[in-house]
Amino acid sequence: MTDAGELRRRTAELLAAHPPATTDRLDFLRARFDAGLAWVHYPEGLGGLGVPRALQAVVDAELAAAGAPDNDPRRIGIGLGMAAPTILRYGTDEQKSRFLRPLWTGEEVWCQLFSEPGAGSDLAALGTRAVREDGGTARSSEAESGGSWVVNGQKVWTSSAHLARWAILIARTDPDVPKHAGITYFICDMSDPGVEVRPLRQITGEAEFNEVFLTDVRIPDARRLGETGDGWRVAQTTLMNERVSIGGMRLPREGGMIGPVAKTWRERPELRTHDLHQRLLKLWVESEVSRLTAERLRQQLVAGQPGYEGSGMKLAFARLNQEISGLEVELRGEEGLLYDDWTMRRPELVDFTGRDAGYRYLRAKGNSIEGGTSEVLLNIVAERVLGLPAEPRTDKDVAWKDLAR
Ligand SMILES: Cc1cc2nc3c(=O)[nH]c(=O)nc-3n(C[C@H](O)[C@H](O)[C@H](O)COP(=O)(O)OP(=O)(O)OC[C@H]3O[C@@H](n4cnc5c(N)ncnc54)[C@H](O)[C@@H]3O)c2cc1C
Repeated sequence: MTDAGELRRRTAELLAAHPPATTDRLDFLRARFDAGLAWVHYPEGLGGLGVPRALQAVVDAELAAAGAPDNDPRRIGIGLGMAAPTILRYGTDEQKSRFLRPLWTGEEVWCQLFSEPGAGSDLAALGTRAVREDGGTARSSEAESGGSWVVNGQKVWTSSAHLARWAILIARTDPDVPKHAGITYFICDMSDPGVEVRPLRQITGEAEFNEVFLTDVRIPDARRLGETGDGWRVAQTTLMNERVSIGGMRLPREGGMIGPVAKTWRERPELRTHDLHQRLLKLWVESEVSRLTAERLRQQLVAGQPGYEGSGMKLAFARLNQEISGLEVELRGEEGLLYDDWTMRRPELVDFTGRDAGYRYLRAKGNSIEGGTSEVLLNIVAERVLGLPAEPRTDKDVAWKDLAR
């Protein structure tokens, strides 16, 4: 049985065979993956050892103490947090062994081609079409090996598309059935002809995300993830993991948005007022409760698929980030309003703590939109967690092609 002691032994073996001080970073990460110490809860041969996720902390602590490089998880969050669990659950053996290793090491960045100009909260209404090259609608997955799909459409708000080699993509394969039933999930090669990525500038002045135009993009059937027409169910795995990965990150105390404002409070007594003190205390306590709740959620996840609790976490994360970054701007007064870098950069990651107060305030606005808006998450919590009556839905039994658009 692999317990904490055994993991320490394996980690020591890895460090002895590949000393971090003299080993190339990528070589070290590949060796770590091959030793099953990348994500220990993944199966053997796929970067893990099939042991409880909670044991990852043992490996991480040993590697950090030895000064080993990590895979820079903030840079590859979509791959790690969303693509990987979906591939693990629905991928074929070939897909798992082709994609998971370079995804984890960060050699291949992933992006998410879900949202469209006419389909964000109502994602199942999406109109990007994937048609079998023989022209059929391919409702059944029987006898569907080989061949390709031809994809046409437009996606929007695609974070990291300009850096990505691969994308998780959902597209409509059958317009004649209700919207949730006619969707299929694919892995799209972002370097293929017909994929065009254009930057979209945000409120921060940067362009983290993009619009992506897909024109006659050919995707081999071997890169379909899950059954034809079952894409909505496959996408649920991605979306539930997305909410956990946005709202439920592992952080030390004061590791999130509350950290910089608490630091300013300690270091700049001249800025303090009684009113701001009360608000800071309240937000500090709420941040700590939220951090510990995320920790508990992660422990509940030990055995698999996240539940709808991830939606609650993401809701709390968005509200707190916006309130705390607003408080920080108030605390700093005029200086908090300064934001002097309007260069249109193409950042590789969202870094809340390494930037100034103005950036945090502006970037946090997107937190209540990305990964599902707060209004939509409230609906999910109301219906799925609290069991309240569902919103009326009139389009459930209507073919997608007959829906008003
Ligand atoms: C920073 C950032 C990064 C993103 N990255 C990606 C990405 O990488 N890939 C990707 O696919 N998408 C990405 N998105 C898109 C994001 O998922 C969508 O913006 C989001 O789902 C909302 O969709 P929408 O923008 O079309 O707004 P809409 O769905 O049009 O919503 C407009 C307003 O109506 C409200 N609303 C809609 N439906 C309901 C309802 N049923 N009940 C109550 N209120 C409702 C919404 O809450 C919102 O206030 C990103 C967004 C942001 C801000």
